[in-house]
Amino acid sequence: RPALVWLRDDLRLSDNPALTAAAQGGCPLVIAYVLEEDPALRPLGGAARWWLARALASLSAEIARRGGTLVLRRGRAADIIPALAEEIGAGAVHWNRRYEAAQIAQDSALKATLRAAGLTVESCNGALLHEPWTVATQSGGPFKVFSPFFRASSQQPVRAPTRLPPVLRFAPPPASEALADWQMEPTAPDWAGGLRAAWEPGEEGARAVLERFLAHGLAGYAENRDRPDLENVSRLSPFLRFGHLSPHQVVAAARHAEAAGSAGPKDIAKFVSELYWREFSYHLLYHFPTLATTNFNPRFDAFGWADNPAQERAWQRGRTGYPIVDAGMRQLWETGWMHNRVRMIVASFLIKDALVDWRRGEAWFWDTLVDADPANNPASWQWVAGSGADAAPYFRVFNPVTQGEKFDPNGDYVRRFVPELARLPAEAIHKPWAAKPDVLRRAGVTLGLTYPHPILDHAAARERALARFEAIRG
Ligand code: FAD
Repeated sequence: RPALVWLRDDLRLSDNPALTAAAQGGCPLVIAYVLEEDPALRPLGGAARWWLARALASLSAEIARRGGTLVLRRGRAADIIPALAEEIGAGAVHWNRRYEAAQIAQDSALKATLRAAGLTVESCNGALLHEPWTVATQSGGPFKVFSPFFRASSQQPVRAPTRLPPVLRFAPPPASEALADWQMEPTAPDWAGGLRAAWEPGEEGARAVLERFLAHGLAGYAENRDRPDLENVSRLSPFLRFGHLSPHQVVAAARHAEAAGSAGPKDIAKFVSELYWREFSYHLLYHFPTLATTNFNPRFDAFGWADNPAQERAWQRGRTGYPIVDAGMRQLWETGWMHNRVRMIVASFLIKDALVDWRRGEAWFWDTLVDADPANNPASWQWVAGSGADAAPYFRVFNPVTQGEKFDPNGDYVRRFVPELARLPAEAIHKPWAAKPDVLRRAGVTLGLTYPHPILDHAAARERALARFEAIRG
């Protein structure tokens, strides 16, 4: 009897433990993806839907090369998976786990239904180096602070990537819906041109990005990972988000680079430790399922967030008048991705300068990031807000000028995404309002006309934020 492999956030054939287990079982395979339309689950944002469409096309082609078909269905997985299993006469169903509470509840219920129908169900870990419940404090509880979490989890061995049998045997596929009918890519207006230029979603794209990073970015990572004007970060986040490669493959590749001497131990250690921030976010999401909606620190429930639509809109559009903030927000809109240092700067600006609820920023990122991640996104927003586990201290308010000057010292990052400032010299580019009139004139910049005046005064906003944070500290 066939084995049904249900792919979800693990859109790859290599190191896919569920697929490998099914293939090793020797039964003919049916591989399916369900576009889940279920009010209990958080719907994907626009950029992630664009990514998913491309990723499914790439995966379909990869499976076709191996002689199979990716079966596409749309609706509630709770209905579709049992029906599909029955339709193909499956003896077993395999999937890799997910970690949002609603997904866990759905999978547990499905497991019970399928088992009651006499099927074997096997779920595997395809997404994390360590399952969230296998890492615990000495008293057996979840970690709330990264450093001890990292110490405890990084001591555990990381399994080697699994190997798929070279030949896959497929069962005759049931009917599949057509990807084109799902209309997941924008048409009018088509806002995805920059995304198409920046990314190749799928397993092949992931391999290319990983190889480029290992060859050109990893050496120097520890020193330069905070520089958005350089190319020292991996840009693997959307590939990890959709599971085009596993963190196990990334760790194995990094260790290989270390053995080959192409990067130093400092760079490798720093890079691998960043993967553990992702692990930590999933640890938090698993143990604190309302991470995306509820302040981790309940003191923040009393924080009077401002209803500030004009400043929020200026932030979204990259028109705050603070060049590093605007460059980041435009990079996000154009490419669906933003450098980590700049994510922190723009998040701090929205929360602490404009006093907008972090959940509104999280929602904007959710809609516009190709790597919008159910764990990393809310955990990071709460971290910046100061409301999270192991949060940035509340009094840390990022200064958009000094941050720009420190991490984009020549202004090249700003020049790339805010072209109307491109001719400003480095000394002026992070604070054009302070430049001499002839400097602005020579650069073709007229504040209020070609580029906005700052929408707020950072120094005053900082004082206001500190007073608010002080008040809820009690
Ligand atoms: P690299 O530096 O090359 O790191 C390699 C991998 O490690 C990343 O792909 C990512 O999986 C993980 N990683 C690195 N830094 C972090 C971090 N600080 N927290 C968690 N994991 C990390 N990351 C997402 O994947 N999805 C999100 O939705 C997301 N939202 C964020 C929102 C805010 C406000 C902030 C401050 C950060 C957010 N991050 C998010 C974390 C981080 O910015 C990105 O993972 C990173 O910029 C991705 O780029 P990279 O792949 O080049 O990272």
